[in-house]
Amino acid sequence: MIATSTLEISAKAYRQNIRYIRSEIGPKPIISAVVKGNAYGHGISQMVEIAEKAGIRHFSTFSSDEAWEVLANSKKGSEIMILGMLHMEEMEELIRNGINFYVFDFERLANAILISKEIGIPAKIHIEVETGFHRTGFDWNQREKLAEILLDNFTFISIEGLCTHYAGAESVSNFVRVKNQIARYHEFKDYFNNQGITFKTYHTACSAATLIFPETILDMVRIGIAGYGFWPTKETFFAKLNSLPKGNKNPLKRLITWKSSVMSLKPVKIGEFVGYGNSYMALENIRLAIVPVGYGHGYSRLLSNQGMVLIKGQYCMVVGTVTMNAIAVNVNKIKDLKVGDEVILIGKQGGKEITVASFSESTQMVNYEMLTRLPKDIPRKIIP
Ligand SMILES: *Cc1c(COP(=O)(O)O)cnc(C)c1O
Repeated sequence: MIATSTLEISAKAYRQNIRYIRSEIGPKPIISAVVKGNAYGHGISQMVEIAEKAGIRHFSTFSSDEAWEVLANSKKGSEIMILGMLHMEEMEELIRNGINFYVFDFERLANAILISKEIGIPAKIHIEVETGFHRTGFDWNQREKLAEILLDNFTFISIEGLCTHYAGAESVSNFVRVKNQIARYHEFKDYFNNQGITFKTYHTACSAATLIFPETILDMVRIGIAGYGFWPTKETFFAKLNSLPKGNKNPLKRLITWKSSVMSLKPVKIGEFVGYGNSYMALENIRLAIVPVGYGHGYSRLLSNQGMVLIKGQYCMVVGTVTMNAIAVNVNKIKDLKVGDEVILIGKQGGKEITVASFSESTQMVNYEMLTRLPKDIPRKIIP
């Protein structure tokens, strides 16, 4: 089976990104590669392979299904940590397989302790505390009860981590909120330490926090978007730019290239409309190339009459509406174009480039969202 488009994932770019992050955090902290959302669209199995070859031995997922996928693809016995959803029915299997998970309420904690006692294998738990994100995490006023339970049961469970997540470390407009979160996290840490509870790892930082709030780098950093070669926001990039060595280019490299090919060519006469409705009328005689990628493949409808692709090293405009399975692009300026010729949706060709950011800004999606919408069934190919 040959798909209508392919995603190429550059292992070399990933190694570069990890080198850069390592240079920022120093030799000690663990880098946990966050592979939720099908590894931000890059493919979990591909990213586990690439990351392990780059020396990564810790992966974070949102949910248990993703954790199982990491486990199935890990060749190095890497640690796996679930940040969010797991089903109580599968907790025993998770514990038996040594999979770490976040604990943010008493119910999950009680279950973990119960099962650990029953099967004689300590659950690897990470206590998440609420510092201001207000989604999951133990509240400040729950600390006493929590400390009591942990002290009563520390022989049955393995208290791996104390963690939190920042709300908006990617923007200075959230500076005060993030600073308050850092302070609250340390209050939790001091409180538990004073009760005689220590954690194997303290970890709080995502990509943005790692890059612009270095005090959040503790024993481990949880790196998602930066590993895939994107700045969490433009602001993070500009905030960081000054501290980069002079003349240095962007140290983060995009891993992903999205390619398709010309399905057919069609001339359209002046005055004719292209595609559904009347959003595009040919103002001259034009030639169209039809590319077999549409919104059903993750190419947003918002790119109708807006998007661009690269063909033979030249930018070509999307004309008319993006349909479920195809787009039409104006190829008037391209000579000798044939069916089967390469089309770049994201990536470089002939010295020109289409970035995910240009792509997602014009569709008002951030990098994160555009990437994770890439369907799982587009084949991903690792480029060494
Ligand atoms: C998604 C996530 C991360 C990684 O965030 P990036 O901005 O992609 O680096 C880290 N920690 C938690 C809890 C997350 O949910």
